[in-house]
Amino acid sequence: MTNTAITNDATQAPTRTVAAYAAPAANSPLRRTTVERRAVGEHDIVIDVRFSGICHSDIHQVGEDWGTGIFPMVPGHEIAGVVSETGPGVTKWKVGDRVGVGCFVDSCRECDNCVSGLQQYCTGGGMTPTYNGIGRDGRPTYGGYSAELVVDEGYALRIPDNLPLDAAAPLLCAGITLYSPLAHWGAGPGKKVAIVGLGGLGHMGVKIAHALGADVTVLSQSLRKREDGLKLGADDYRATSDPATFTELAGRFDLIVNTVSADLDLSAYLGLLRVDGTMVQVGAPEKPVTVNAHALLTGRRSLAGSMIGGLPETQEMLDFCGEHGIAAEIELIGADRINEAYERVLAGDVRYRFVIDAATI
Ligand code: NAP
Ligand code: ZN
Repeated sequence: MTNTAITNDATQAPTRTVAAYAAPAANSPLRRTTVERRAVGEHDIVIDVRFSGICHSDIHQVGEDWGTGIFPMVPGHEIAGVVSETGPGVTKWKVGDRVGVGCFVDSCRECDNCVSGLQQYCTGGGMTPTYNGIGRDGRPTYGGYSAELVVDEGYALRIPDNLPLDAAAPLLCAGITLYSPLAHWGAGPGKKVAIVGLGGLGHMGVKIAHALGADVTVLSQSLRKREDGLKLGADDYRATSDPATFTELAGRFDLIVNTVSADLDLSAYLGLLRVDGTMVQVGAPEKPVTVNAHALLTGRRSLAGSMIGGLPETQEMLDFCGEHGIAAEIELIGADRINEAYERVLAGDVRYRFVIDAATI
């Protein structure tokens, strides 16, 4: 995996050939291949990828749900591994360190948002996504469904020693995507929080909101996963298929985090907020959503959005999870089962995150 080759592309820069699983074209099944990564630069580290989570966003992007993708596409932005090489200028890491990489591998580093640690909202050209993007070197980025990653040292995060790498991998996206809004909107003691959808993101939301001290309710399509939800830390668990849920819980929550990408009646959910409550959209639907303005104005309610988290907050989340012994509930799979896992995620048949054992790539 470490042979160095010369590329045929315009940059003519030396590269590193790495085994990976890629979708060759939009909507096509993933299969084993190799990709060319950049050679280790001054401030780069090489990560021996050990585990890579399967986020629903991977499926959205392979399916071009959000727009045209770059193919071949190697998805994966929930990456956990061990540093195996360091560039000559690297100061932050040494070989053997346990590290993670999330949804972005670079940003402009100069705009106000980057400077204040909100790299996910970089205004200097936007964050460079871990895959399905173009890096500083002009090459496509390739994600974590691969044996190795070459990344700038500043864009890797430390994984606490007490967290197993496989169950920690999903923290790099699902974990931070829930931690950030929960922290920003003050989930904690005395606050009533609802998590909509008990999937990969949702189950992390229940664990984190509970650890923050909030009173947590799961709003799921049915009561099928109720027992799991309560074990994960929920205080209450309601089915949204039951109209009584929307009358009984009306005006109850300070904060609702919606992880669902399907077309929900957001106005009905807004009615569950108390005065000044906020509903944060983290699920990413393909189409614009509609809301009834009355659902907002009758309670001075807010509808907000939130996208992953910046580097400092992602480290804060990992440390928080380390202190509280929080990681994802996972089903570990070999890489030959990625396509099957995609089908199962789409069918809602996952408890609660598939994680690829990168040794099988
Ligand atoms: P997931 O594991 O598939 O979970 C989604 C959950 O939504 C399901 O478990 C299900 O929960 C619920 N659901 C599914 N279909 C539904 C329907 N038709 N009606 C109502 N509820 C439905 O997906 P995920 O990985 O958690 O990702 C969720 C969404 O967040 C995706 O759109 C993903 O792209 C997005 N995302 C956003 C960010 C961000 O930064 N904002 C980051 C990562 C992912 P129940 O069975 O409990 O109802
Ligand atoms: Zn994700």
